[in-house]
Amino acid sequence: MRALQLGNFEKAMSADAIWACVSCQTCSTRCPQSVDCAGVMDILREGALGRGLASPAQRSVVVFQQAFLNNIRRNGRLDEIELIAEFKLRALPSERSLPFLFKDAGLAPKLQKRKKLHLRGEKVNDRAVVRRIFERCGDGQHE
Ligand code: SF4
Repeated sequence: MRALQLGNFEKAMSADAIWACVSCQTCSTRCPQSVDCAGVMDILREGALGRGLASPAQRSVVVFQQAFLNNIRRNGRLDEIELIAEFKLRALPSERSLPFLFKDAGLAPKLQKRKKLHLRGEKVNDRAVVRRIFERCGDGQHE
């Protein structure tokens, strides 16, 4: 934010911090100056991508976000297995490594034990409503 105040957009777009942001909106909600910090993070990430400043690992953050949104658009709620499969397949060309496909597989039993991973994803009944929400938000398709 300080780099932006000083007009140093290149520095702001090159900051690793913009890729650590998970868009939780806490900063935007609590900012005493009503700055939409989370929105600023989004714009900085887009700028970094457009200018080729993002590393392969940082680009995979975007691939994950796209896979996440596609999943919600299709199902109305998250299907973890489908999400992981889409993310891995989309990120594979830039990762260029077959072991990448199975890198996190060892976490599955632990996640399932804690009921954080559902082998059969559920879908909301009225997925047309979900599609309309996406359309209203002007969200482009990433499929
Ligand atoms: S939205 Fe704001 S508080 Fe949340 S992770 Fe991003 S910068 Fe941090």
